[in-house]
Amino acid sequence: MHPSPRCSHPVLRVGALLTTCYFSLSTGFDYAEGSLTLTDALFLVQDLVSDVIQGVVHEVSEKCVFFKTYFTRSRVIWYDNGTMRVLYVFIDGVGYGEAGEKNPVCPEVCPTLCRLMADAEHLDTCLEVPGLPQSATGQATLYTGVNAAQVMGRHKEGFPGPTLCRLLQENNLFMELRRRGLRVCFSDAYFADTADELAARRFKSVTTIMALTTPEVIRYQKDMLAGRAVLHDLTREAIVPKGFTGPLITPDVAAEQVLSIAAENDFTLFEYFLTDITGHSQNRERAEAVLRSLDTFLAGLLQGLDEDTLFILTSDHGNIEDLGTRGHTFNNVPLVAIGPEARQIRAGATSLMDVMPRLLRVLCPQGDADR
Ligand SMILES: [Zn+2]
Repeated sequence: MHPSPRCSHPVLRVGALLTTCYFSLSTGFDYAEGSLTLTDALFLVQDLVSDVIQGVVHEVSEKCVFFKTYFTRSRVIWYDNGTMRVLYVFIDGVGYGEAGEKNPVCPEVCPTLCRLMADAEHLDTCLEVPGLPQSATGQATLYTGVNAAQVMGRHKEGFPGPTLCRLLQENNLFMELRRRGLRVCFSDAYFADTADELAARRFKSVTTIMALTTPEVIRYQKDMLAGRAVLHDLTREAIVPKGFTGPLITPDVAAEQVLSIAAENDFTLFEYFLTDITGHSQNRERAEAVLRSLDTFLAGLLQGLDEDTLFILTSDHGNIEDLGTRGHTFNNVPLVAIGPEARQIRAGATSLMDVMPRLLRVLCPQGDADR
């Protein structure tokens, strides 16, 4: 007997780069209601992947069957049809501030961002450590789920030192996702050609340290020119003073490119930090220009977002929402989640520490089974 698949979106996800691995078949059916039997599901999988020679049911959850499988060859096979994807947009230095002339984050300047922020969780960035929240510890917390400020005993600005580097190199979001066999992309284009070149840089951001632990996720100049990566400033103007003579693009085009990258990956991270730089400048005109450009980009992303993509937006600390101060703020930052599993991301999230564990839970519902 060979049952015809009764599900519209069969998803096979290979859990790890091992000959023996676990994967889940997610059909959107509620197995508890018996709409697709386990035997049917197993046949379906064997039909989809010829390399599967054996599979035993490992665990059954509400909408997934987890199989333990044996592959004839030790390679990862992708069968991707309707898998949930994540597009994670990180915006440096945007918090909730009081409305007024010191706060350029207002509907007249950035209506899309304001709309997103109005329906978002508010995350604390102080992490129970005295002092102003800073980027290195804030971002390390977002990408490890560990309270990096507490590890350091203080908030660390700018670039991570040895302790934070060690924390990031031990484990991070990219490593966790790659370990589970997911396709991960850091869609910001580095103005460089190789990982060695990046590794040799004296100052490396939290995200660069993280990306270097999984160099296959990194994109370079050549990717940018091919439309497969977007410069952090969206338009490439930032690299003109560094000698870039290629074409500039608009924030709309940047949004299209990020969306097409996100469509090819299970998890895509895009980082934008002109908001923080401009916040430090305290220049309202510049801040408005940056926010307008960012807003066009965000509007483009939301417009083109498909129903299988979970959109996440967050920040590491406040800054641009209060141009009255040169430094960062103590304000909460937004955690926006739109799309599949958005509720799981948002539920009960109150701090920067909460983002990574929730992401892993929705992207890898099998948890640690494959490790
Ligand atoms: Zn800053």
